[in-house]
Amino acid sequence: MLRSPRRLRTDLHRLGLAVNCQKFLEAMGVSLEGAQAAYTLFEEALEALEADKGADAMLPLLFRARFAFDQGYRPETGFCLQCGCEMDSGQGAVFHVQEGLLLCGNCAAPSGPMFRLGNESLDALRFVQEYSPLHWEALSLSERARRELTRAVDGFIQFHIGLTWDKGMFRRV
Ligand SMILES: [Zn+2]
Repeated sequence: MLRSPRRLRTDLHRLGLAVNCQKFLEAMGVSLEGAQAAYTLFEEALEALEADKGADAMLPLLFRARFAFDQGYRPETGFCLQCGCEMDSGQGAVFHVQEGLLLCGNCAAPSGPMFRLGNESLDALRFVQEYSPLHWEALSLSERARRELTRAVDGFIQFHIGLTWDKGMFRRV
């Protein structure tokens, strides 16, 4: 834990966000190779939650996304893997949950659930992939991006890792 987690001890909202991250880590379990990255990520998330602006309710979700990135799942966010077009041209992308793929809006994976991600959500994923939680307060996400990211990240975690958040804890599904 942190040297002096003053806010986490006195602010229930911040504490709740920290506990959510911790419960996710516990439920996931971490491999030996992934332990250092996971530990650093958790420490930085706690530090971010101590910061002035660090109490965004999205932090645990972004934490889950970054955790998946760090543990080896790295979706291509620059171009469409099917047709090769750049995904920066304003049309966003479509996240295909079963394949764990991001494709452009014109390319459809064979079947299964998919979620549309606008450019703002795509940019946020790139940002979270690249920068530590200490910088996430720079993201100011619209309601739409929050919805898109929540569906895509939790859809991915549920389908590929088999965890879902239910009544204050993560359960295997
Ligand atoms: Zn495409």
